[in-house]
Amino acid sequence: MPSSKGFGTHDAQSPLAPYSFSRREPGATEIAIETLYCGVCHSDLHMARNEWGNSIYPLVPGHEIVGRVTAAGKGVKKFKAGEIAAVGVIVDSCRHCAPCKRGEEHFCDEGPTLTYAAKDRVDGSITMGGYSTNYVVDERFAHTVPANLDLAGVAPLLCAGITTYSPLRHWGAGPGKKVGVVGLGGLGHMALKFAHSFGAHAVQFTTSPKKKDDAKRLGANEVVVSSDEEAMKAHAKSFDFIIDAVSAPHSLDPYTNLLKQDATMALVGLPEKFPVLNVGNLIFRRARLSGSMIGGMPETQQMLDYCGEKKITADVEVIPIQKVNEAFERLLKQDVKYRFVIDMSSLK
Ligand code: NAP
Ligand code: ZN
Ligand code: ZN
Repeated sequence: MPSSKGFGTHDAQSPLAPYSFSRREPGATEIAIETLYCGVCHSDLHMARNEWGNSIYPLVPGHEIVGRVTAAGKGVKKFKAGEIAAVGVIVDSCRHCAPCKRGEEHFCDEGPTLTYAAKDRVDGSITMGGYSTNYVVDERFAHTVPANLDLAGVAPLLCAGITTYSPLRHWGAGPGKKVGVVGLGGLGHMALKFAHSFGAHAVQFTTSPKKKDDAKRLGANEVVVSSDEEAMKAHAKSFDFIIDAVSAPHSLDPYTNLLKQDATMALVGLPEKFPVLNVGNLIFRRARLSGSMIGGMPETQQMLDYCGEKKITADVEVIPIQKVNEAFERLLKQDVKYRFVIDMSSLK
């Protein structure tokens, strides 16, 4: 059994600390990877602190993984030892239900297996995430990485990237569409890059006036500080699509108020408490409130290949793993530019 060194926690109150465990040898269609980089998603913080109530301890977070293949089972077709592989938020699913057959494994009828804090379908153990030296995964749930991209900047694409790419594609963000992004953090900055790249008119909403210049640089045509009521009013009933990527409880009403008739707002942010809605904002313009969760394996690969073509990566602050607790605290202060990524060589 290969051993793994990681950072994890035994309960919702303690900071992350060194934690060692073992992983299985890769099976016939599995690869083992040595982790090179792992992004720090706000979901890691929600999960480490059991804010969604479903955490299983000991818990090793991390679901934005880029690594090098160290071993491949006999049946593996996509990877050879020495190549780069990337793993996101899910590592398995039933593989036979309708969503799985469609390549929407994240909507698996029997529930996908999360990269950490979930029961492994193969050996019944609890999955341990990418804040660790290695990972073992079926090749179906691992992706190839375009060779021209910086690997630290690629890691966040595996969650923040696909979680914003998928709904923007689904709801047709593109030329002639006015698209709003709420919250400029890890997810928000990727939403902004994609909305811009797809040719939409992108408007960033932020609670942080100091992020205005960055938002412009990241692709915003306009930036609105959400506490500025006049500026908000000027955008009333004008949006085709809004994506909400905020990590903390907040009112949706100021944003549903900005939707055009028949327009859609998609929630991807998942705060620990859900808001009460002014349903009138939806009813009086037949608007939709939608949600979205990561993306399936084919679409995740598509997104990575698109990023290769367009040279899109996340804006990252690379940190040693010893600084991960500090990074969590900085996320809570909205002090992130715009994704922390752990350099896993710091674990050795
Ligand atoms: P993040 O990097 O911490 O960014 C969150 C941003 O939300 C902040 O930078 C801030 O932007 C805004 N914000 C924070 N507190 C706020 C408050 N009290 N009121 C208004 N705005 C506030 O987080 P992330 O990693 O992007 O994740 C965002 C959320 O998405 C989390 O809840 C995470 O769990 C969830 N998530 C969902 C999926 C999915 O599949 N649906 C996948 C990954 C993550 P400004 O400073 O610009 O206001
Ligand atoms: Zn995530
Ligand atoms: Zn399934």
